[in-house]
Amino acid sequence: AKRRGRNIWQPFDHELARDLGDRLLMESLLRRALDSGEFRLVYQPKIDLARSSVIGMEALLRWNSPQLGEVSPSHFIQHAENSGEIVRIGAWVIGEACRALRAWRDAGLGLRHVAVNVSFRQLLGGSVLDAVQSALRECGLPGNALEIEMTERVLIEDAGDTVEMFSALRRMGVSLTIDDFGEGYSSLNYLRRLPIDGLKISHTFMQGIPVNPVDSNICQAIVQIARSLGMKLTAEGVETDAQREFLLQLGAPYAQGYLFSPPLEAARVADFLEAWGDNGNG
Ligand code: C2E
Ligand code: CA
Ligand code: CA
Repeated sequence: AKRRGRNIWQPFDHELARDLGDRLLMESLLRRALDSGEFRLVYQPKIDLARSSVIGMEALLRWNSPQLGEVSPSHFIQHAENSGEIVRIGAWVIGEACRALRAWRDAGLGLRHVAVNVSFRQLLGGSVLDAVQSALRECGLPGNALEIEMTERVLIEDAGDTVEMFSALRRMGVSLTIDDFGEGYSSLNYLRRLPIDGLKISHTFMQGIPVNPVDSNICQAIVQIARSLGMKLTAEGVETDAQREFLLQLGAPYAQGYLFSPPLEAARVADFLEAWGDNGNG
């Protein structure tokens, strides 16, 4: 037995059983979710700060489970990674994002690219290259229409052939961006070894801006790292005008956040772009 707070004694495996039950339940629900059409993508605009124009959209996965309701990706992605289901889901995300961009372009919307989030498990499995190739082919899109966002973890758990795969994607014109930069691992070494095009400053550093000097300095340092390495920089989680001003003054090129727009349903993207243009911002 394990002692828990307030002098209550509970058998240890109660908690263990619940965790295991959660895990098995999640994994079995996830296995059916894709074929049952329970996933959809929402899209958050990426803004060019100096021009105040929309340059692209980041696709974010949403799961509406009949049993559990709307489940946040920060909760279910991890389970999909553990079960390996992320490989199939991830391939669908890449295809779906490309189909959305194709439809927007066909409707005359001037979006340069769509970005997808790819988990380390998916990249290490090596299936991403195939998924990207067939999605681009199916939609008749050039490689530079697609951006891949991945966390630093991918680079730390480097499987050896990462460099080769990245180079292959790069040759296709696909751009590679490190998400949540600065949040997890501090080694900058991989930035020299790998063909990376962009960095995203984690929203955790955005919270204290501009009043917190530590956050502000970290932000400034990351902007400089990106600039000196010739990488495109995006700040995520921008919620206030003061944060936007700060980034603009630092010369940070791109930003995303609730200040500009929350993630949008695909069908709302055209309206958003039109309203953005009508505001004289576009
Ligand atoms: P992320 O890639 O860092 O995405 C940014 C998250 O911040 C999104 O949460 C977005 O909705 C939220 N966000 C956007 N603007 C703001 C803001 O101004 N303030 C705050 N506080 N939050 C903001 P979301 O959609 O819940 O996604 C959470 C994470 O789940 C993502 O973090 C990403 O790591 C992962 N994820 C989402 N979609 C996918 C996917 O298709 N594949 C994989 N592998 N991971 C995904
Ligand atoms: Ca992302
Ligand atoms: Ca993030």
